[in-house]
Amino acid sequence: MKTEGAVALVTGGARGLGLEIARRLADEGATVIIGDRDAEALGALPSGLEGVVMDVTDPHQVKSAVEGIVERHYRLEILVNNAGVISSEPFVNIMNPDGMMHDYERFRSSLRVNLDSVFIVTSAVVEHMIKQRTKGSIVNISSISACGNEGQTAYSAAKAGVNAMTVTWSKELGRWGIRCNAVAPGFIGTDSTRAAINETGLKHIRDNTPLRRLGDAQEVALAVHSMIENDFLNGVVLDVNGGLRI
Ligand code: NDP
Repeated sequence: MKTEGAVALVTGGARGLGLEIARRLADEGATVIIGDRDAEALGALPSGLEGVVMDVTDPHQVKSAVEGIVERHYRLEILVNNAGVISSEPFVNIMNPDGMMHDYERFRSSLRVNLDSVFIVTSAVVEHMIKQRTKGSIVNISSISACGNEGQTAYSAAKAGVNAMTVTWSKELGRWGIRCNAVAPGFIGTDSTRAAINETGLKHIRDNTPLRRLGDAQEVALAVHSMIENDFLNGVVLDVNGGLRI
């Protein structure tokens, strides 16, 4: 489908990869709405990008925010489920005085923000697409961790779930002309990556990546744009990771 002239919702687009994806889609001529919980950052968005406050883990907030978008713009053809929080915790940590096993509440909270959110936002958007007979494109932002990354039980499980929902929805929604794909970035040189991994860890990643570098947010945005434009891509999880295997 053509990005030009389409209405797109990018979740978690107030900064990081989401902001880069939103910029790219706007540059390609889409009307882009960014759904994020960070109201202050939404107030400072570059011109041309519209912000809507929503916590993607809250079904009621998401439903009314999506209804508002459809009322203002009459339709919604593109959804990029990007909002998420990188989380790391070993399954067993014998040095932790509070208990050696992974905390269950932190496990649940990672699943809420990285997996439940994708279900919640997609449900709200697809309902409108089907009622309005809008052909659409959904792109979920997964991660290289979906294949099981040491030290990331919850995050890996959440992103593996995102991949599974991507394939399931590609099968269920295709009959309405709605395609669903995912982009699975490797390690991208964002603030969130630098906050999650120290310099030694980053060097190890660079050394083990065949291209010997971290990815660039623009490379992820380009992959998302290509998935939207290619009408025969459906149910694909595209790795954008410089050839790294973990
Ligand atoms: P950032 O933390 O930089 O940005 C994420 C954005 O999502 C923030 O604006 C954040 O708001 C928002 N957000 C988080 N939780 C919610 C919520 N409950 N409701 C609404 N908005 C929310 O992350 P990245 O740009 O690094 O990551 C974006 C996506 O890409 C994530 O899904 C991540 O898992 C994935 N990814 C990132 C990689 C990387 O190298 N950066 C690699 C692989 C995958 P706030 O500031 O308030 O937290």
